[in-house]
Amino acid sequence: MRERKQMAAALAIAGSDPSGGAGIQADLKTMTMLGVYSGAVVACLTVQNTLGVREVVPLEAGLVKRQIEQVLVDLRVTHVKTGMVGSAAVAAAIAAALREFRGEVVCDPVLVASSGKALLAETDLASYDDTVIRLATVLTPNLEELERLAGSACRNGEEIEAAVAELFRRHARLRAVVVKGGHQPEEDSIITDRLFRRSPAGGTALVAICQSHPRVRTANSHGTGCTFASAFTAYHMLTNDDVAAFEKSVELLDRLLRLSAPHLIGHGRGPLLHHLARLTPSCECGRNPGRSRWGRW
Ligand code: PLP
Repeated sequence: MRERKQMAAALAIAGSDPSGGAGIQADLKTMTMLGVYSGAVVACLTVQNTLGVREVVPLEAGLVKRQIEQVLVDLRVTHVKTGMVGSAAVAAAIAAALREFRGEVVCDPVLVASSGKALLAETDLASYDDTVIRLATVLTPNLEELERLAGSACRNGEEIEAAVAELFRRHARLRAVVVKGGHQPEEDSIITDRLFRRSPAGGTALVAICQSHPRVRTANSHGTGCTFASAFTAYHMLTNDDVAAFEKSVELLDRLLRLSAPHLIGHGRGPLLHHLARLTPSCECGRNPGRSRWGRW
């Protein structure tokens, strides 16, 4: 019998959104949609619906650590994706569990919900920076998160570049930073997403790629951050290429926002509707697009 090789897997470590739009639910939908297997470690619970987040309940830190350890000793995890952690104690537990992990760590620094509710206390930010972000190979902040992490304003390209340089300076393992433009001022009709990479010469010099696209005006944008980071993780697993993963993720998010916009789910800010992408013949997911009837994103 032909010897079977362990399939590469992702591991999402994130908060739970019971309404299904963001968090670990969005992570699993995205990875599955793109043809990647992912485990799922719940780091904290939230009580929320499309109208907003009512409660944030971090899990006991040891429980989170043991979940991660049990997955890592079994599955062939090549990529970890982190989202909302909920507390400094859980952040430290995640870092302890990943201490020996040498694969990719895509960190989505979830700090505040779009509704304004804090998803990580301000007082826990420094510990989070020193634990989970310290392990990241790729970071995917939005503009607000970048400002808070770097501690400086990000109102234009130069300020964004300076903030990213500060993160590269602070975190030696960081190879790429994707800055999502969705939080640009409401009046901006063009959104710019940016990929920064540490220059091959090392240090904090930056190589950047920008993608600008028209803003999709929609009520259904809940979970776009989680979906973007998971898409980047999945595409990186499939291509091993930061630029391809970035470009494909930007394209996927634009497409999902457009597909989701006409629909009504819940009574507040609705989610992205990942399952619709599966039903659209022109979308193409999977590892072998040439042989897939779905084609390519
Ligand atoms: N809830 C959970 C569990 C999340 O992980 C996130 C974001 O990553 C949110 C809520 C906030 O999502 P949004 O800012 O899209 O409302």
